Amino acid sequence: MPDPTRLPFSPGTAWHRADRTALVTALCETETMIRRAQAAQSEILAEMQSRGVPQTFGYADVEAVVKDVIRCDRPEARARVRRALACHEHTEGTRRMPAAAPATAATSAEGAISARHIDSILRTLAEIPGTVPEEERLGYEKILADLARESPPAAVDRAGRHLLARIEQDHLARDPAEPPPPPARELNWAWNRDRQLCFAGRLDAVSGALFEKLLSPLANPRPGPDGQRDTRPIDQRHGDAFAELLDHTQRAADLPTEAGEKPALLVTMSIDGLHGRREPPLLNEDIPIPVGEARLLACDARVIPAVLGSSGELLDLGRETRLATTAQRRALGLRDRGCVFPGCTRPSNWCQAHHIVDWINGGPSDLDNLVLLCGMHHRLMHTSEWTSRMADDGKPECIPPPWFDPKQTPRRNHTFHPPDTG
Ligand SMILES: [Zn+2]
Ligand SMILES: [Zn+2]
Repeated sequence: MPDPTRLPFSPGTAWHRADRTALVTALCETETMIRRAQAAQSEILAEMQSRGVPQTFGYADVEAVVKDVIRCDRPEARARVRRALACHEHTEGTRRMPAAAPATAATSAEGAISARHIDSILRTLAEIPGTVPEEERLGYEKILADLARESPPAAVDRAGRHLLARIEQDHLARDPAEPPPPPARELNWAWNRDRQLCFAGRLDAVSGALFEKLLSPLANPRPGPDGQRDTRPIDQRHGDAFAELLDHTQRAADLPTEAGEKPALLVTMSIDGLHGRREPPLLNEDIPIPVGEARLLACDARVIPAVLGSSGELLDLGRETRLATTAQRRALGLRDRGCVFPGCTRPSNWCQAHHIVDWINGGPSDLDNLVLLCGMHHRLMHTSEWTSRMADDGKPECIPPPWFDPKQTPRRNHTFHPPDTG
């Protein structure tokens, strides 16, 4: 048995005297030491399990002992025991269990792979169908252990996924009568205290790839009107892209209905609430939102606004009068062809219909009072000093705030209408 007190290095070594190569060599050697020590600890844990040591100390299992003795969290203790029992033969009750991952154990004993490598291999092994013969399974394990010796854990994850896909293919070929299982997908969500929707889930490979394909172009950086750099971090751009995708989906003509109605947001506002008094506007009769947000939503023709008088009576349900008709929408799309904000490239089916004179202030839902804006520029129009107007030639244009352009020269988007053709 190696003497664990005899280490080639110890804390307090005079590293400032070592040259560069010696430092790198020492880095590798200490890592091997750590990994071999982990492998040795695995053997110890398997032995404790086989001899029922925890029970003799009054513990339920090895995991509980590890947690208390080395003072780690339960998930860490569980992971160590899982690795130990997979790598080494042990006894469970009266049953002798063979090592499920002997090649991994051998590679680990050399100090060649990390705990993360072992976890990756074990995850793949756990997903190999029980119908695969033991000999074949051990062959796959050896392939992964050899790969782990030379590659980072992410590469072992990837190889594991490819291996599982291949095994699945082989099995389908062998037994074509058995239909493949349906894709495993999950989505869970909950509202938090800040009225944000938090979600978690997983998608099968095909839907996942589609998700990435759809989101990627929407998440590209979007420069400002004078080419200023997009400063949003990547995760924010992904979030914005996802919101835009939802907004676009809602506009789809053939969306399934519920109780005969296409899904539409309902904004309920009281006259007093609109002026910042009393209760705030409600989204879908349930979720309080700021007045500015309600105005932005109510501006777009697809949202149904309901205005209540001071005693709660319904003054106006915008449904009939306001919802831009399909013909109107089409005419708007033909005229603007996309977002009218200078430099924007979002085409018309990605746009919202903005009321130049606010709908709440009596602006009609007529073509002369509507311009197409993408979600991002619609928000900008409501929250900044940018404004829009209809020029004398009947074409929409945007007017920058004075801080942006002291002369406030109106600008047009030439993406869809090159300047020479008007
Ligand atoms: Zn608007
Ligand atoms: Zn835009």
